[in-house]
Order: sequence, then C-alpha cells, then structure tokens
Amino acid sequence: CADIALYRVKEQGRAHYQFYHHSMLQSTPYMMLIETGLRKAINQNEFVVFYQPQVDLCDETINSFEALLRWNSPTLGFVAPNEFIPLAEDTGLILPIGTWVFEEVCRQIKEWYEKGYGYKTVAVNLSTKQFQQSTLVETIEGILKKFNIPPHCLEIEITEGALKDARETISVLKRLKEIGVQISVDDFGTGYSSLSYLKRFPLDCLKIDQSFIAELLTNPTDEAITTTIIHLAQKLNLTVIAEGVEEQEQAQFLKEINCEKAQGYYFSRPLPAHEVEKFFQQ
Ligand code: C2E
Ligand code: MG
Ligand code: MG
Ligand code: MG
Repeated sequence: CADIALYRVKEQGRAHYQFYHHSMLQSTPYMMLIETGLRKAINQNEFVVFYQPQVDLCDETINSFEALLRWNSPTLGFVAPNEFIPLAEDTGLILPIGTWVFEEVCRQIKEWYEKGYGYKTVAVNLSTKQFQQSTLVETIEGILKKFNIPPHCLEIEITEGALKDARETISVLKRLKEIGVQISVDDFGTGYSSLSYLKRFPLDCLKIDQSFIAELLTNPTDEAITTTIIHLAQKLNLTVIAEGVEEQEQAQFLKEINCEKAQGYYFSRPLPAHEVEKFFQQ
C-alpha cells in the first residue's frame, strides 16, 4: 500500500525501523518533535548544506558537486534527509526549506568564485512538491540574479516520479532550460517511468542509481543495466554519473565501460563547504 511509509524511530539511542500508516505519522512523538523542530529550523540557522564531489573518471578532476541537506537540530542532533524530507513534504515546509537550499548553494558558488576557485557546478535535489509550486521558476531565476552567477552552474536533480505529471513538468523544465539551468534525473532506473520521457524532456544528465552500483562487479544483471544506461546516455548526448561508488574496483570498472563521472564514498563523503575547498587546491 502506497500509504504505508517506513520511518526510523529513535528509542533509547538505537534506531528502529517501523511501519506507519500516513495518518499515524503526525501522532508519533518523534515525528511531532521533527515537525515542531523543522518549523523553527530555518530561522534559527540549523540547516547546513554538505557537498559531495563528482569525479570525472577520465582525468580525475572535480568540477561539480551535489548539495545534500543536513539538519543540525539542537534537540535531536544531526537528522538525515531521509528522516525529515518526507515530513517536510507532507507539511509543505519543503517549500521554504527548498528555497533556502537554492539561496545557500548560489551564495556558496559565488563565494568560491570570489575566492578564485572559478565557477563550480552544484546539483540541488528538488522534491515533487517544489515542482508543483507555481513560483518555482521565478524563485530560481531571482536567486541566480541576486548572486549574479552563470545559470549553468546550477543543476537540479529530479526523480523519475516527478516526470510522471507530464504536461506541467515539461513546461517547468523547458522554462528552467531557457534560463540555462541544467537538469539531471536522479536515481535513474528505479522509478517505474516510461523511457519515452527521455524524448520529451530537455535533460542534461542521468544519475545511475546506487542500487545498481553496489553489486556491479558481482551481479551480471546490475552490470548489464549499468552498461546499458551508459550507452543510452552516450547515444542521447547526456552526461552520465554513477552514484554510490564505494570501492576502487568499481571506479576502475566504470572507467573501463566509459562512464563519464562518479560520485561516492570511495572518492569522498559529502563534506561541509570549507572542507571541499581542499579539492580545489589539488
Ligand atoms: P540522493 O539525491 O540520491 O543522494 C544520494 C545519497 O546517497 C545521499 O544521502 C548521499 O550522502 C548518499 N551517498 C553518497 N555516496 C554514497 C556511497 O558511496 N554509498 C552510500 N551508501 N551512500 C552514498 P543523504 O545525504 O542522506 O540524502 C538522502 C536523500 O535525501 C537524497 O538522495 C535526496 O533524495 C534527499 N535530499 C538530500 N538533500 C536534499 C535537499 O536539499 N532537498 C530535497 N528535496 N531532497 C534532498
Ligand atoms: Mg540526488
Ligand atoms: Mg540518487
Ligand atoms: Mg534518492
């Protein structure tokens, strides 16, 4: 049942996984704590953006990053996105939070540029709810102007789920494309979507889901899927990024099968902005 969600509940310092029906969510104490906390978090500066490098497998250079949101709550500690994003979506709080992420990322791109590191590209995850917000394009356009950065420095990551609602989505994506923002499909291959959207949407990049990379070297099906996505991307002139690369052997194999970029713990975990700067000096 689509209404049943899996949520982590903290109990005596240990993590438990439990099933909840949507209607029960708001009534569990942990969820209530999160919701109350989330409402205050923006104003109290509790959100932090971490950046994970995306490595060009050909020459090992790093020119792009994925922005991953972290919530440093005074009462709950560091809360992972998978724990608070679903609730932020249910409560609508994802809209102000999402706008904050765009602001913060563009401010950071500008700061790196002013420090002499050049313009870096940063990908921001967008939830379906943000897509349905009529002011999304204007908001992004306004923020790009405010910080006066080249629009191609900003990339948005959408999941295949967001591509389902075709008509509205195409027009939003086309307008973003007109501005010059780049568009990636996140978790590619996991979303039950028809491949025909590759024809209709103005995309720049496919991100191979980490579930295919985990057993890339031992599972022939995962290898076949990964290789095929890479070929597909090449034929369609799209960039391709493998996610969740944790081992040297995976990186080496991906390079051999002509995967353009990779991202994962093998290269670097997501890091705070000041720690990412060490990659610019190399
Ligand atoms: P995602 O966009 O698919 O991001 C990839 C996730 O995989 C991140 O988890 C990242 O830290 C993790 N990861 C990176 N490399 C590896 C690896 O080598 N091995 C493994 N096992 N994991 C790796 P994270 O940061 O916890 O984010 C989880 C999800 O939360 C993201 O999945 C994204 O869907 C969502 N999210 C994160 N930040 C935002 C945001 O600002 N806005 C929205 N709407 N969603 C966000
Ligand atoms: Mg992503
Ligand atoms: Mg992903
Ligand atoms: Mg994901």
